[in-house]
Amino acid sequence: MHPHLMPRDIGWIEVITGCMFSGKTEELIRRLRRAQYGRQPVVVFKPRIDGRYAEDSVGSHSGMRMRSVQIDHADEIPLHVGDAMVVGIDEAQFFDEALVQIAENLANEGRRVVIAGLDLDYLGKPFEPIPHLLAVAEYIQKNLAICVICGNPADRSQRLVRGGDRVLVGESEAYEARCRLHWNPKDFAPLQESLPLGPNLAEGH
Ligand SMILES: [Zn+2]
Repeated sequence: MHPHLMPRDIGWIEVITGCMFSGKTEELIRRLRRAQYGRQPVVVFKPRIDGRYAEDSVGSHSGMRMRSVQIDHADEIPLHVGDAMVVGIDEAQFFDEALVQIAENLANEGRRVVIAGLDLDYLGKPFEPIPHLLAVAEYIQKNLAICVICGNPADRSQRLVRGGDRVLVGESEAYEARCRLHWNPKDFAPLQESLPLGPNLAEGH
């Protein structure tokens, strides 16, 4: 018996993760395009918070682009999936924990669910719901970028500016990919009192 890439009688969940500039969206688009070439109905979702590029498409830094449905909450996904066999979700770190059960439901219905998102925030904290999705996914790909300091494989996002949200959307110049050695969240971490508390930070760990 061999693994196969197209859903037959069951669905599954694939997660593409990694730091910024690791090509997650490119890989998502590559997989979804391949499904489209195979005449499989595809739908792509992204959170409305991501105002980069065209309003109705997911796009990578390299310019790859694909039409998408912008939603405010993961609950809206089941309303728009229709008869799609393949469901793509980009920037999934911006959705809440509800995405986990929704992805599981879609896979249980026999759909292939392909999710891309950051696994760590700029403080090096796990960025839910991605860690939970990694646990329930059948297939996981962790992309690495290149450390801008030394050229080693990089898995961290170094923020270069103070303050702001947990992720500064669309401000890719505010980040660099760094390796374990050259990544230091204290370099530019915002002052504690001005820090908007994300879920992980609020829990105090
Ligand atoms: Zn380095």
